[in-house]
Amino acid sequence: MKLYEKYPISLTNSLSGKKEKFETLVPGFVGMYVCGPTVYNFVHLGNTRTFLSFDIISRYLRFLGYKVRYVRNITDVGHLVGDADEGEDKIGKKARLEQLEPMEIVKRYTEDFQNVMRQFNILPPSIEPSATGHIVEQINITKKLIDLGLAYEANGSVYFDVKKYNSSHHYGILSGRNIEELIESGRELDSQDEKREKIDFALWKKAAPEHIMRWPSPWGDGFPGWHIECTVMSTKYLGETFDIHGGGMDLKFPHHECEIAQATGANGKSPVRFWIHSNMLTVNGQKMSKSLGNSFLPSELFTGSHPLLEKGYSPMTVRFFMLQSHYSSTLDFSNEALNAAEKGFKKLNNALTLIKSLTHPSKITNQNSELEKTLLDQIDKCFQNMSDDFNTAKTLAVLFEMASQINTWANQKESLAQVSEDTFEKFKSTYIAMMEEVLGLKEETSGNNDLLDGTINVLIGLRKKVRADKNFALSDKIRDDLKAIGIKLKDGKEGEMSYEIE
Ligand code: AMP
Ligand code: ZN
Repeated sequence: MKLYEKYPISLTNSLSGKKEKFETLVPGFVGMYVCGPTVYNFVHLGNTRTFLSFDIISRYLRFLGYKVRYVRNITDVGHLVGDADEGEDKIGKKARLEQLEPMEIVKRYTEDFQNVMRQFNILPPSIEPSATGHIVEQINITKKLIDLGLAYEANGSVYFDVKKYNSSHHYGILSGRNIEELIESGRELDSQDEKREKIDFALWKKAAPEHIMRWPSPWGDGFPGWHIECTVMSTKYLGETFDIHGGGMDLKFPHHECEIAQATGANGKSPVRFWIHSNMLTVNGQKMSKSLGNSFLPSELFTGSHPLLEKGYSPMTVRFFMLQSHYSSTLDFSNEALNAAEKGFKKLNNALTLIKSLTHPSKITNQNSELEKTLLDQIDKCFQNMSDDFNTAKTLAVLFEMASQINTWANQKESLAQVSEDTFEKFKSTYIAMMEEVLGLKEETSGNNDLLDGTINVLIGLRKKVRADKNFALSDKIRDDLKAIGIKLKDGKEGEMSYEIE
C-alpha cells in the first residue's frame, strides 16, 4: 500500500471553496503548475512565503509516493506595471532605467530568485519554463481563440472577448466576481479603450515604437499578454487538464480567472482540477509589497540590516516561522514572532541532532506500552496533519511533543529500552523525515555562529578598551579591517557596539 493510499490527502479547492478529497487524473502521478516570479526585481520575503507553501506541497506529495511533475514558470515578458493591460512592461521599464538589455535584467533577477530559493531550502521545480521561450505557442493559441470567435484584433493588439465567453461559460467561476458588475465599474473608468469591454484582456499587445521587448506576429510587432503564458506553459508540460494549479491569493483575479477562461475557451474543458491559493505575508496587517515600501529582502533578514528588524535570523528560523501558520491564513511579520520562532526552531533542531545520535539497545527492559502507543500515535498524527490540507502548524505541534521525548531519551539513555526497537526506529525515521524531507528544515549547526559571535565580541571589547585609552588610530583600524571582510561595527549612542554582516 502506498503512503498516499494510507494517508489520503484532502485539500481546500479554491474553485469550490471546500475541502475535497485529492484524487489525481492518473493514479500515482501529480501534475502541478505554480505561477513563478516576474524577474524584474529582487524577490522579497512575501514572495518567498508563496513559493515555500508550494515547496511543502510538492515535497509532501513526493514523500507520500506520488510521481510529481512540478512546473513553475519564470515571467520574463508581458507583466505590465499596472498588472492590467496598461503601462510599461515591468522588465522593459527596469531595462530602460538601468540602461541594460532586458535579458540582462532577466538573468540577474532569475539568479537572485534561484539563490534565495536555495537559501530557504526551497527545492527547484521539475521544469522552469520562461514566457519568452514560448512566444510561438502563445501566438498559436491566440490565433485559435480568434478562430473560435473568442478573441478579436484591434489596432495590432488581440483581446479576449469576456462577454462572448461568458455567454456559454462562467467568467468569475474562481473569484466569484460578477461580470455585470465588472462591466459597469469598468465603463466609468475608460471609454476610449480599443477593447470592446473594459474587462476584456490582452492576449497580444501591439508594441509601441519605443517598446524594447517585441516579436513579429500575424498582427504586427508586439508581445504576449501576461495571462496567456501560464495557459501555454501549463498545457504544454502538463496537458489540457492537470491536477493542481497554485499561486498567491492576489493572483486569483484577474490572472487565474483569465487563465481558466482562455484554456476552457481554447480546449473546451476546464484546465485545473484543484486550485490552491496561498495567503499573504503581511506587515502590521498590510500585504508586504515592494510598492508599499514595507518589504524587505531575505538577505536583510539574515543580517538584520533593515530598520524594521531588531537583529538577523537564520534561513531555517524564517522557514520555521512561516510554517507555523497554515498556508491559507495570512501571516504577520514581527520581531517578537521571529524571536519566538528562533527559540522554537532551536528546540526542534537540537532534537534532530540528538535523535540522529541515539540508537536502541536492541532489547526491551521495563516495557512501557502506554509510551509505545503514544509514540505510534505521534507518528500517525504527523501524516494525518500533513494530509489534512498540508497543515504544517499542526505537524510542528506534534514534532514538539516528539522533541520532548527525544530530550528525555538523551538524558536517560536507559529509558530507550522501554519501547521496541521497531517503534523507536519508526519514530526516529519519521522525526528526521518530517523535519528534513517534508518540512525542509535542515539541521543548522549553531556552533559557527556562536564562534563568530564570540570572536567579534572579543574584538568589540578590545576596541572599547583602546578607545577609552584614546588610541583612536587602532580603534579605527579594528573597525576598518573588519569592514574590509564584510563585518560592519555599529556604534550606539550610549557607547554600546554591535555588528552586522554585510
Ligand atoms: P510577482 O513576482 O509579483 O508576480 O509575485 C510572485 C509571487 O509572490 C506571486 O505568486 C504572488 O502572489 C506572491 N506574493 C507577492 N506578495 C506577497 C506577499 N506579501 N505574501 C505572499 N506572497 C506574495
Ligand atoms: Zn501565472
